Amino acid sequence: MQIQSSFSLKKFNTFGIDQTAEAFVSVQTEEALKEALALKEFPTKFILGGGSNLLLTRPIKGLCIHINTKGIRLIKETKNAVIVEAMAGENWHDFVNWSISQGYGGMENLSLIPGNVGTAAIQNIGAYGVELKDIFDSCSAIALSDLQEIEFSLEEADFDYRSSAFKTSAKGKYVITRLRVCLTKENHKLNTDYGAIKEALGDLEPNPKNIAAAVISIRQSKLPDPKEIGNSGSFFKNPVVSLSHFSQLQKKYPTIPSYPVNKTQVKIPAGWLIDCLNFKGYREGDAGVHKNQALVLVNYGSASGNQILSLAQKIQRKVKEEFDIWLEAEVNII
Ligand SMILES: Cc1cc2nc3c(=O)[nH]c(=O)nc-3n(C[C@H](O)[C@H](O)[C@H](O)COP(=O)(O)OP(=O)(O)OC[C@H]3O[C@@H](n4cnc5c(N)ncnc54)[C@H](O)[C@@H]3O)c2cc1C
Repeated sequence: MQIQSSFSLKKFNTFGIDQTAEAFVSVQTEEALKEALALKEFPTKFILGGGSNLLLTRPIKGLCIHINTKGIRLIKETKNAVIVEAMAGENWHDFVNWSISQGYGGMENLSLIPGNVGTAAIQNIGAYGVELKDIFDSCSAIALSDLQEIEFSLEEADFDYRSSAFKTSAKGKYVITRLRVCLTKENHKLNTDYGAIKEALGDLEPNPKNIAAAVISIRQSKLPDPKEIGNSGSFFKNPVVSLSHFSQLQKKYPTIPSYPVNKTQVKIPAGWLIDCLNFKGYREGDAGVHKNQALVLVNYGSASGNQILSLAQKIQRKVKEEFDIWLEAEVNII
């Protein structure tokens, strides 16, 4: 096991923040992961996936364990469906591509989301009307307390909007090692209602392959590529407010958009609120708000995690003052 000390994480987080880990190890097998988790000389462990949902504001104490376990296998097949298992360190988009190449349906709307397969369960990744919970079968994890293996069912994972048990009751207690998803072989449940998917499809047949291609082209045209400019995708969650709060806001802002959540609440796009306060393209040193996507904070080069955080906090305060809404960070602030 190759443990490196004072290891720079700049290339291991999509914000491109230059923070170090006291010690760093990349694990390629579950045995190596267990060995690393058992190391007594590092009482504190930090689990790192693709680094695409992190804002590093301080050095990582103890051992940073980079999950790099690979493998995809079919574990069950019926006439209409399959259950496929992928190791936590597989790249999410590679897994989606694999499923499309097999002709399976269910993952197409989740194309091109950065990060690892294992982490997908943590915030119940979602895009274009589909969330991980819609295809989730179960996942395996190792408990940090006693290194025992445990399985989480759909119910136990307790998925919610950009949330799960791994962000709430089970936060920091488990390392996810394998994810199993249930995909369709035929009679796919296609979702083309969201965003510009129908437009991007044009005359093409709506099938998993064409929908994946449409989602990829929409995402490439809209979202900044972390290889070109550091970012972690949407920085804030879309807030949910009561209908009475929303109707108050509508008096001042008649065009404020919303999506129904239930009979008493609606969701408002956080990007709209931020844009309304003219933050698009705003910059403080190398920390900024993307010029086309108000929800995406960016690192123009040498911003520190704390500079990005202080910009995020300024946005939170201004949104609170104007709309009486507190924006919650989607990104994990470390
Ligand atoms: C350009 C861009 C676009 C994005 N678009 C979307 C989108 O459309 N929808 C969406 O939902 N998200 C989106 N994201 C956010 C991000 O891709 C997802 O949250 C992704 O699941 C993060 O995976 P990761 O492996 O990079 O996590 P990391 O950033 O490495 O880790 C995130 C957190 O999970 C913990 N962790 C990592 N691996 C494990 C594990 N195996 N077990 C336990 N804990 C672990 C880490 O300690 C950390 O707290 C986007 C990000 C970017 C940069």
